Amino acid sequence: MMNAREVKAVDLRRSNCVESNDSTHRRRGTVASEKLLYVETFGCQMNVNDSEKIVALLRKVGYHPTQDSSRADLIILNTCSVREKPEQKVYSSLCRYKGLKNRNRRLLLAVGGCVAQQEGERLLEKVPYLDIVFGTHNLHLLPEMVRQAEDGTRRAEVGFIDGDARLDLFPVEDAAGGVSRFVTIMQGCDNFCSYCIVPYVRGREVSRRSVEIVQEIGELAAKGVKEVTLLGQNVNSYGLKSAGEPDFAGLLRQVATIPGIERIRFTTSHPKDISPPLIACFAELPTLCSHIHLPAQSGSDAVLARMGRGYTRDEYLQKVAALRAARPGIQITGDMIVGFPGESEADFRDTLSLMDVVGYADLFSFKYSVRPGTSAAGFADDVDGAVKQERLARLQELQRRMTLEANKGFVGSVQEVLVEGVSKRGGQLFGRTCGNRVVNFAGDPTLVGCSVRVEITRAFQNSLLGEIRGRGTR
Ligand code: SAM
Ligand code: SF4
Repeated sequence: MMNAREVKAVDLRRSNCVESNDSTHRRRGTVASEKLLYVETFGCQMNVNDSEKIVALLRKVGYHPTQDSSRADLIILNTCSVREKPEQKVYSSLCRYKGLKNRNRRLLLAVGGCVAQQEGERLLEKVPYLDIVFGTHNLHLLPEMVRQAEDGTRRAEVGFIDGDARLDLFPVEDAAGGVSRFVTIMQGCDNFCSYCIVPYVRGREVSRRSVEIVQEIGELAAKGVKEVTLLGQNVNSYGLKSAGEPDFAGLLRQVATIPGIERIRFTTSHPKDISPPLIACFAELPTLCSHIHLPAQSGSDAVLARMGRGYTRDEYLQKVAALRAARPGIQITGDMIVGFPGESEADFRDTLSLMDVVGYADLFSFKYSVRPGTSAAGFADDVDGAVKQERLARLQELQRRMTLEANKGFVGSVQEVLVEGVSKRGGQLFGRTCGNRVVNFAGDPTLVGCSVRVEITRAFQNSLLGEIRGRGTR
């Protein structure tokens, strides 16, 4: 989601949801109406974005975010079930919070997101100390469910909401500012790749109204936001099934006219839906960043066909070439799955060779994990676990070398960097290049939110180091 990541707890500070400094927002008991909320986020950026919305919704009913779960009155796990491993981590987190709940009977525990959608009511049965289960279409019910839980009522809501009613339920972003924000433009997915659970847990694809997206981004810009990342499982099919809405290229052109927005990113793109008008945007819109996340999943035609991806290796490479012709230097990242049913050593080598040809800036790679209910769950999961592990290690080693080489290629160049904050290692600022490389450099904290020109002096595996050479062009 952009891409799913290996599961991790997301630090809410990334999403401008820092714990209130107000000394009145102390432990429950000090100020009865103000309570503390801890959100643990698993999975992709869609979930990070949903967690921001959860924080905004519950703030309105008196819950303020904390980074310390032991101080919380309400703990919410926003979960991911895209692979088995993240799903399992949810259950270990629940066990951890059981101890807190034993010590504090009034602590409320909720599970939302894809595992909640998958399990529904069953989760309340499996986890007797759980108070709330809310599905991917039910965020809006959360304030009411929390109020009921405060009165002792346990509840699960996982109904899908379709049609216009769904369009009215896209929660608007928290009014907080920041430098860079996610904006959801669509939800769900109709692609049904054979391995993927997303269509089952996120529901049918629905595109948000463009007028609301543009209004929301305008309001974020007015609060000082400089960069937006348009989010969806498959952003480039935006608007295709909605009468009267622009297609994704048309939406990008509208967003590009919003005063104050200096950078536009989007994620994730499905290669089959990369259209000529979208490619033209890379040639014509200067605020569209030079980066695209374009998951191939495999370099073998036979595997791609069994995955139901809807493109061949050659078609993928043609799209990559067209993007590079439109925007020379564009950075391409992707996702790969190893050990898909029937993947032979030769198929896997096709994946390695695709990586060589494309030259990914970075890659998220996963061992195939059977997901219940998907069509691939009916295929024999016939690649041995040790072989999957060995292929993953080979792939990741190749990518590590390619990423480091590519990073070294930036040394000596001057990059325009949007300053996003002060890094935890004191004294340094951090930001990203237009191509999405992280750059650290010494500078004055008042530069946060500004574009600066930075000469790259050193390259590391995951970041670049540089020195400021002046203000940027924006
Ligand atoms: N919509 C995006 C796309 O089509 O590229 C991907 C969204 S999916 C949530 C994120 C990534 O998880 C996929 O690109 C894929 O690499 C990985 N993934 C999904 N299902 C998987 C499975 N069953 N086993 C392993 N990896 C999986
Ligand atoms: Fe899953 Fe395929 Fe949809 Fe991506 S496009 S979310 S991989 S079904």
